[in-house]
Amino acid sequence: MDSSRRLQALRKLLAPQKLDFLLVTHLPNVRYLSGFTGSSAVLLVGGRENVLFTDGRYTRQAREEARAARVVIVRENALIAAGEWLAQKRRRATSVGIEGEHLSVASEALLRDAVRRHCRLLPKNGMVERLRMVKDEEEIKSLRVAAQLGSNLFRTALRAVRSGNPETDVAAKLEFAARRAGAEGMSFSTIVASGARSALPHGHASATPIPRRGFVVLDFGVILTGYCSDMTRTVHVGRPTAKHCGWYEAVREAQLAAIAAVRAGASAGTVDAAARKILKDNGLGRYFTHSTGHGVGLEIHEAPRIGAGEPTILQPGMVITIEPGVYIPGQGGVRIEDMVVVRERDCEVLTSATKELIVV
Ligand code: ZN
Ligand code: ZN
Repeated sequence: MDSSRRLQALRKLLAPQKLDFLLVTHLPNVRYLSGFTGSSAVLLVGGRENVLFTDGRYTRQAREEARAARVVIVRENALIAAGEWLAQKRRRATSVGIEGEHLSVASEALLRDAVRRHCRLLPKNGMVERLRMVKDEEEIKSLRVAAQLGSNLFRTALRAVRSGNPETDVAAKLEFAARRAGAEGMSFSTIVASGARSALPHGHASATPIPRRGFVVLDFGVILTGYCSDMTRTVHVGRPTAKHCGWYEAVREAQLAAIAAVRAGASAGTVDAAARKILKDNGLGRYFTHSTGHGVGLEIHEAPRIGAGEPTILQPGMVITIEPGVYIPGQGGVRIEDMVVVRERDCEVLTSATKELIVV
């Protein structure tokens, strides 16, 4: 991974933000910038060198992974150590940016104590997240492989979708197969929502048995080399009614319309509007209760948000999900979700599983 290039890109943003340093505390940001994958560290970017503060559990790992940073092993708290380091006069750290969205009130108090009056701490939001929005080729490769594994697992999950089988059994088989295929973990708690529960946009697998007739929403993802996949397919148990077929077709059409709207230069809001229009035309607009998609990468939900009126302009290399859905309370719901890479004139769909309505 090209750590130096990423650190360089962040350093260029310091002066325009009137910062001498940025103190990176959000672990996915630490990993993105330095390559360090441990569970405790802070990274200081600015000045003469980049410094990674971590503890004795990670001495060797930090030196191996964080090649573009000086590694400082601390005895106690990495944040306090970074604060004391900054407070030394020779660092010339007058203005230090902190990741306001990711630092707890208690941590900020510790840090203020450590820097005392030597530096001003300025909350800055999304500086690293904005860099992370556009993926490099190596990241796209990781996401492509993760998405492909996700698509393959859909077939395994499908075999467990049977009337009377608890939702958790479907999740268990899927997650077991994911681990056997080399996944480091799941991107999020697997969603298996059947029958009336399919109307819950985030119905985590429960002990509920799958009913004899109705939709089953399967939303899941794996983590491979740190990168998350995310996909949703909705299948039907028993013969679907004409009404159910209508919902499914409308969501499928909306999803395809949104994918067709994805290209560099389009705004996130335009993509959302493409999906929303189709559902409105089908009289289902008010049942589409969330945004059309989100960025995905080292974290399952990243910038940009693909929602109504979002002004963010899509750029080549962004990886986003397209996942419209309809949720009719007490009756059921349908969602279809793919991961796509934004290209100059269109997009590349990373999740290959079929979107025809599968009846089991
Ligand atoms: Zn999902
Ligand atoms: Zn998603």
